[in-house]
Amino acid sequence: MRLPQKLRRLADGWRGEGLAVGLVPTMGALHEGHLSLVRAARRECQRVVVSIFVNPLQFGPGEDYRSYPRRPREDLKVLAREGVDAVYQPAVRAVYPKGFATAVTVSAAASESWEGAYRPGHFQGVATVVAKLFAATGPSRAYFGEKDAQQAALVSRLAQDLDLGVEVAVCPTVRDPDGLALSSRNAYLSETGRRAALCLCRALRAASAAFSGGETSASLLEGVAAALVGDEPGAQLDYAAVVDPVSLERRERADAGSRLLLAARVEGVRLIDNCLLGGPPPPSGEGRG
Ligand code: AMP
Repeated sequence: MRLPQKLRRLADGWRGEGLAVGLVPTMGALHEGHLSLVRAARRECQRVVVSIFVNPLQFGPGEDYRSYPRRPREDLKVLAREGVDAVYQPAVRAVYPKGFATAVTVSAAASESWEGAYRPGHFQGVATVVAKLFAATGPSRAYFGEKDAQQAALVSRLAQDLDLGVEVAVCPTVRDPDGLALSSRNAYLSETGRRAALCLCRALRAASAAFSGGETSASLLEGVAAALVGDEPGAQLDYAAVVDPVSLERRERADAGSRLLLAARVEGVRLIDNCLLGGPPPPSGEGRG
């Protein structure tokens, strides 16, 4: 389905029958992380819409908008197997027709710090497209990944602030057995880069362990994570930050429920990961056959 008006008519019909509609927004090149959201939506909603849209507004100049992996045919096959009710794949001009002049800004640490500071305009692009996807679908629940914790916090803020009546569900990060968080951008990494990228989950594990051992100083925990990334010659750290899970503001003292956010570059690819302190640490399967 390519037009927002068509999607709205279909979803209006479902709502008219009293059916709960779940929305899973994605940029495609689907992997098991995306599918975990689809499966959660299938369990909890009577109708499921998956959107596939590489949103130009959320890419900055010099970022990978053009080269972002696009696999529409494979994605459709996978989604048919998952039994979703509609796939929304609009063209850019259907989402942003000539004369489009509106931007949605969430003014809070949730959009201005961390990824927001490294990718100016990124979260405005995200908030704008998510508002449009919500308007076209009218979901009662929308599913986002904990992998992009800052994005999930921002979307929750948006839904609450604008009384959109959408419940934002945040699903756990899906990882490869060696701990690497699944991401469409992992496809850019060479075998060596992929090994280097494991320093992110190693850093999260070490900081989690330090927190479980009683360390609550944010600077020390951030230092533990930074050191592990620093030990990997193939990776450059952008930030390690202990934050409040809702406001995304930095905390001086970590408590159970604080989140540790990490961003690093490997072979020029920006990778992000995070974990809940006091929660289960990312798995370690490094060294397995
Ligand atoms: P993307 O296609 O990268 O925009 O991601 C679409 C949705 O899938 C977002 O809500 C992401 O947070 C979520 N997602 C991406 N990777 C993962 C993962 N490894 N585990 C769980 N959710 C993920």
